[in-house]
Amino acid sequence: MRQGSKDLIEPKSHGGVSCREQENREPVWQGKRALLSSGCMRFDIVTIFPGFFESVFAQGIVRRAQTSGLIEIRMHDLRDFAHDRHRTVDDRPFGGGEGMVLKPEPLAEALESLGIGSKKAGAKGLGTRDVGTRVILLSAQGRVFTQAVARELATLERVVLICGRYEGVDERINELYCDMELSIGDYVLSGGEPAAAVVVDAAMRLIPGVLGNEASGVYESFGAPDDEIAAEIDVDVDGVPRSQHGAGGLLDYPHYTRPAEFGGLETPKVLMNGDHAQIRRWRREQQLKKTLENRPDLLERAALSAEDRRTLEALEKDE
Ligand code: SAH
Repeated sequence: MRQGSKDLIEPKSHGGVSCREQENREPVWQGKRALLSSGCMRFDIVTIFPGFFESVFAQGIVRRAQTSGLIEIRMHDLRDFAHDRHRTVDDRPFGGGEGMVLKPEPLAEALESLGIGSKKAGAKGLGTRDVGTRVILLSAQGRVFTQAVARELATLERVVLICGRYEGVDERINELYCDMELSIGDYVLSGGEPAAAVVVDAAMRLIPGVLGNEASGVYESFGAPDDEIAAEIDVDVDGVPRSQHGAGGLLDYPHYTRPAEFGGLETPKVLMNGDHAQIRRWRREQQLKKTLENRPDLLERAALSAEDRRTLEALEKDE
C-alpha cells in the first residue's frame, strides 16, 4: 500500500507554520517577493534517504526560516512510489556497465503527486506547472551552482529537488520533468542529498527576511555587483561602517574578534583605530589579496575600480 509522501521536517514540530497557513497571514516583509501569493517559499525534496535531512534542516537559520513561515521544506520518500514488495527504485543500466540507475516510473509518480506534469506535448499534466516553480535534478553533469543561481532561486515560489543515487537517474526524467540540472562542484558525491541541502541553504538565506541583517547576504563572498548593491542598499546600517564597499564578485575579507592577541598573532592594527574609511580600504585590499591568492579566476569578472587595479598590480609585484 502506498503511504504517500511524508514531511520529515514537520513545521509544527518546532512551532513553524506551513506555506498554506502563511497564506492567511499578513506579509511580514516587503521586497522582490512581496508580489508572490503567499510570501512563503516551498522546497520539495525527492529522495530515497529522507532521514538525511532531519538534522540538516533542524538547526540555525534554516530552522528559524521554517518556524517563522518564510520557507517550508518537505521531504518525499521515493520508495513510497514503488509498488513492488521490495519497493524497488533502481534497475540495471541498458547497454551494460557498472552500478544501478534510478528507475523512471517511481520518480515520475513522485513528481506527478507534487503537481509537476511532464513537459512533453500531450502528456498528462501538461501545463500544470506554475511559473514560480522550478524542478531541479542534482547531477554532477549539471551547470555549476553559484551564488548567482542561488539568487535566482530565492525569487521563486517553489523549488523541487530530485536527489540521484547510484550511477544516476534515468535521463528521461531529466528530459520530461526537469528545468535544470545543477552540480554543486567538480567532484562526484554518492548521492544528491548533500547537494540538495547546499542548494536549499544557499537559496533560503537570500530570501528577504531570513537573515537578521539584510545586508549580510550582499556584503560577502560572491556578493552582488556594486551597482546592484547601490540600488538596493543606499545607507550604512545604523551608522556602522559597511563591512565592504560591495563585494563585486570578490571573496570576503578576513574577520577578527576578541581576544586582540591569539596564538602569538595580533589583530591587524587598522581594525582597532576606529578610522572607518581606512578600515574599508584595508578590507578591500584584503579581498583583492585573498581573491588573487585563492581564486584569481574571479578577478576577470569582478567589478574593479582604478584603485583596485593599482592595488592588484602592487600585490602581484610583491608575489
Ligand atoms: N555517474 C555519475 C555520478 C553519479 S553519483 C557521474 O559520473 O556523473 C550519484 C548521484 O549523486 C547523482 O545522480 C547526483 O544526484 C548526485 N551527485 C553526485 N555528484 C554531484 C554533484 N557534484 N552535484 C550535485 N549532485 C551530485
